[in-house]
Amino acid sequence: MNKNHMNKLTPLEPWIGSKIGLLPGEALTRAALEKYQVHRLNETVDYVKQHSPFYRRHLADHNTPISFEELAGLPFTTPVDIRKNGQHFLCVSQSEIERVVTLQSSGTTAPSKRLYFTVDDLELTVDFFHHGMGTMVQPGQKVLILMPGELPGSVGDLLARGLARLGVEGIIHGLVKNREETLREIENRKIDCLVGLPIQLLGLARHPSAALLEPNRIKSILLSADYAPAAVVKALTNTWNAPVFDHYGMTEMGLGGCVECWHRCGYHLREADLFIEIIDPLTGQRLPDGSVGEVVFTTLTRRGMPLIRYRTGDLARFMAEPCPCGTVLRRMERMRKRIAGAAKLANRELLNITEMDEALFPLPFLLNYQAIISSRNGHDVLTIGIETTGADAAECGDHVRNSLMTLPAIRTAVASEMLRLDPIAPGTYTPSPTIKRTIIDQREESQC
Ligand SMILES: [Zn+2]
Repeated sequence: MNKNHMNKLTPLEPWIGSKIGLLPGEALTRAALEKYQVHRLNETVDYVKQHSPFYRRHLADHNTPISFEELAGLPFTTPVDIRKNGQHFLCVSQSEIERVVTLQSSGTTAPSKRLYFTVDDLELTVDFFHHGMGTMVQPGQKVLILMPGELPGSVGDLLARGLARLGVEGIIHGLVKNREETLREIENRKIDCLVGLPIQLLGLARHPSAALLEPNRIKSILLSADYAPAAVVKALTNTWNAPVFDHYGMTEMGLGGCVECWHRCGYHLREADLFIEIIDPLTGQRLPDGSVGEVVFTTLTRRGMPLIRYRTGDLARFMAEPCPCGTVLRRMERMRKRIAGAAKLANRELLNITEMDEALFPLPFLLNYQAIISSRNGHDVLTIGIETTGADAAECGDHVRNSLMTLPAIRTAVASEMLRLDPIAPGTYTPSPTIKRTIIDQREESQC
């Protein structure tokens, strides 16, 4: 890490201070921030009850003013609510909507989820990208954005607009389709920073041509759109010799939710725009700092389609200890798991894609893999498709099998003959149609 950055406060702190109305130089305090958040929460509840047909019904029994404690009594909003109620979430007329994002659901029959944003809502995201990216890039640098960005209001477009305000050139590349070509573009255009999906970046780092890049070409990396396995962060850090920053967000949050500071030990939250809680996914009770639970958020500044206590399905915890950067902003541990990322095996053991990632991605030849669980003659069958750097096929299959067998869930299920592993061979990998990776469960009745 560059010594100059060692004690650098996250740029989110002064930005949030100015957003909540502090004067330049006035220090941000938790008390001031929480006072602002309670005010905004109440304003948002009043606003959605007035303008959104869904929330008028959903919050009919709840009236403002609401304290922090009373917020925990408001009903959750779920992805199913969004699918079922669509435009009834809207607080403005269709003509004021600048961008609609349609998220396909994993099931083929379920309706898609649609999120609506006004021009002002998109500006909030650009503003967050502008200040958040200040952590890892300097004016004059170039960022290659390995994310979709052709459409106005898409993630790549908003990020490039945020970067321009920093004096940084954001070049929209789109998802990586040909690693060789992408690596050539990095070299030819003298790119300083990469933003992309963890597994796509791993694919670049492990490609033989990565070694041909000018040493220390890449000065920082930002991971986006899916949780990042620790094994992937380690591989990227080692290959590029550059700090790897993680970020957590989702379309529903207005893309960006929180980002790491120079110390890279947990995310700082976009607290002027989002109020984030951690709840017990089974009881729905709010959990104290330090406990792992489901991330739930309420938007504080959105106008088109605000969300109240939206359940993300992601598992994380707040870290009680202060960040070494010294900010008063809260810190959330790097995202570990998604509730939907797990499958229950026939012996009732729970298998999570994140555990498989940590077991498999340390294998230096592995570029990507796909896990499918199916059922055959009363047994579960786990089929792993792998994409490799071209190392010896049979040997790769053996290494993958051995690494999987280090996982207790798999080891016990195989030992009790409830689970079989199909032969594993390279070339059997089909890229996933969704950005968020998961175990594909093809059993007749999902046991998840
Ligand atoms: Zn920090």
